[in-house]
Amino acid sequence: MLGDADKRKQYDDMRRLGAFGGMSGFGGTRPSSRPGGFGSTGPGQSGAGTFTDFDVGGLGGLGDLFSSMFGGAAGAARARSKGPERGQTIEQTVQVPFRTAAAGGKVPVELEVNEECAVCRGNGAAPGAQIKPCNECNGRGVISFGQGSFAVNRPCPVCVGRGSVPSERCPSCRGTGEARVRRTVLISVPAGAESGHKVRLRGQGGKGASGGQAGDLVITFDVQPDRFYKRDGLDLIATVPINIAQATLGSRISVKTLDGKKVALRIPAGTSAGRRFKVAGQGIEKDGKRGDLLVEITITVPESLTEAQEKAMREFAEASGLKF
Ligand SMILES: [Zn+2]
Ligand SMILES: [Zn+2]
Repeated sequence: MLGDADKRKQYDDMRRLGAFGGMSGFGGTRPSSRPGGFGSTGPGQSGAGTFTDFDVGGLGGLGDLFSSMFGGAAGAARARSKGPERGQTIEQTVQVPFRTAAAGGKVPVELEVNEECAVCRGNGAAPGAQIKPCNECNGRGVISFGQGSFAVNRPCPVCVGRGSVPSERCPSCRGTGEARVRRTVLISVPAGAESGHKVRLRGQGGKGASGGQAGDLVITFDVQPDRFYKRDGLDLIATVPINIAQATLGSRISVKTLDGKKVALRIPAGTSAGRRFKVAGQGIEKDGKRGDLLVEITITVPESLTEAQEKAMREFAEASGLKF
């Protein structure tokens, strides 16, 4: 078991390392100037139910540290009658921009997390209170159940594992030493994440009772649609409009890839709407695989013609044997 000084240091280290990250280091998605005017439908909901436990913006593993440092406890009287109770699992949905989900990145999210009580600085004592060794556990911080090799150590419910008790409990946290606080934390989004993907932040959910561990905070991603790209598995589909001259005579167009690079694409003469052109390897990269960028052509038609244009069009149609 860590001594108080060690715990304190560990906590300070975590804090210094930005465990409760502010906005620093957040590379936001910039609004980009893509050709507009395409209807974008939402990304597919496939892949729902994927679930990972992984490092989330520096918070990973911190919950375990917290719960070992300051188990939450309701009053001692209640603690005597019940064993440690694990806190509630709290669920929250977080919107993730399409490009962040596709390429991977971080999203800032305002969450309620468990943090050291600012009033007592985590020791659970009211300002000016005396701190005495706990009688229940004789200052050990743990109580053993059973005997010999079957003995199980549990955090002492009276002192919530501290080994000491204050003469008066902190009025702000009622002696638990921790508080639920709203914080903006950066959640890591793995490349290729889809709607329904879940992230578990251990120990950042509801507070435990009687020395029980805090529950987990489960975050579900809701990937937002993009106005330029759609997804099909690891492939990205970009709909690009060309005009009738480009479609009939052929042209070169420029298409932006997910990472903002421009790729030149040759449109052959006689290209119909709906035709797709593949830009190999410019899709989503996930688990060592890479999808393609599929450029889907739509053709824009002039909404109105001048007299001269209309005459030229009729002549073209007659020369081509096109009915109209
Ligand atoms: Zn407090
Ligand atoms: Zn105790």
